[in-house]
Order: sequence, then C-alpha cells, then structure tokens
Amino acid sequence: MVQKGLLVVLSGPSGAGKGTVCKALAPVMPDMGYSISCTTRQPREGEVEGVNYFFKTREEFKRMMEQDELLEWAEVYGNYYGTPLHYVEEQIAMGKNVLLEIEMQGAMQVKKKYPNGVFIFLIPPSLEELKKRILGRGTETEESFNLRFGAAAGEMKYINEYDYVVVNDEVEKAVDRIRSIITAELCSVKRN
Ligand code: 5GP
Repeated sequence: MVQKGLLVVLSGPSGAGKGTVCKALAPVMPDMGYSISCTTRQPREGEVEGVNYFFKTREEFKRMMEQDELLEWAEVYGNYYGTPLHYVEEQIAMGKNVLLEIEMQGAMQVKKKYPNGVFIFLIPPSLEELKKRILGRGTETEESFNLRFGAAAGEMKYINEYDYVVVNDEVEKAVDRIRSIITAELCSVKRN
C-alpha cells in the first residue's frame, strides 16, 4: 500500500522570514512538493508567474473560489491568496510530502481538512528584528509597513494552534529545525 504523503504547513507573522526559509529548504528537501499559491496581488520585482505565485485577477480568483478549486483561501492586506486544491490532493495521494507556506487564517482551514498535517509556526527572534526584516525587503511604503508590523503582533495569538514553533534566528538553523521536525513526523508511529 502506498503511504499517503505528509502535509506540512508553515506559517508565521509577516516578516518572520517564511519566504527565505522556504527557499533555503528547497535544496535541503528536494523531494518535498512546494505548493504554489494563487494571489490577486501585483507581482513584486523579480517574481515570476508559476514560480513565486500564479497571479490572478480578482474575477479569476473568485471563479476558483466558487468552483471549489482552492484548498483554502484568505484575504490579506486587501488581496486574495489561496492554495490550489488539485496539486495538494494529487501529491499527497501519490505519497509525496507537500509544504504550504501560508498565513494563519488559511492554515486553520487546512487544519480542519487535514487534521494529521504538521503545523509549524515560524517566529522572528524579536520585534526589533521583525521591523528590520519588513523594512529590509525594500518594497514597503510607510502605510504598508505600518499595516504589516501592526498585524504581526495580532498574528502571534495563533501560536497555540500550531504543533511546533521555530525561531528564525538564523536561516540555516531554522531550516535544520524544520527538517528535523519533518523527519521525526515521518518516523512517528502515530501517523496513519
Ligand atoms: P506576500 O504578499 O508577502 O507574498 O504574502 C503575504 C502573506 O500571504 C504571507 O503571510 C504568506 O504566507 C501568505 N500566503 C501566501 N500564499 C498563501 C495562500 O495560498 N494562502 C494563504 N492563506 N496565505 C498565503
């Protein structure tokens, strides 16, 4: 019998470094399937269609919602983000492990559908560091910085909904911790 794959959800407050950690995780865990989300936000400089996101109009996104093509979705800072259902279902059924890098409202929807998933919460080492990271991205206006920094504190309340907390003090260390968590989960006798 083919063992079903493991669904791993990585979330964390804006600026925790999820994107950087995921990028560094990919060469370390090349067999993992990395789900590519749909979003209605504009591409940032250097972002590529089908690599970073599938960029959609609001109409296209709404159609996907209505036709149940999304595993979960959320509205974040005025834009929609969602996980295409087909890719996740297909990979898991094939026994492949899949990682979703998504925010918490969406993660809570996934938890209901995949209670055996592994939910990891990534946090920055301090608020000061969080501020530096959001600003360091260089793409934020003052308004969008205030929005993201203010939201981060509220987002921390989700921490107890997750199975693991990983502090992103250094990317390599955070990657190593996540890899260890996934390895342990794959060895767990509690997994069905
Ligand atoms: P950004 O605009 O910085 O790429 O992403 C903003 C937020 O949306 C991040 O917290 C990111 O994790 C989250 N996000 C990205 N893709 C998805 C998705 O498919 N679903 C949900 N719920 N959140 C997502």
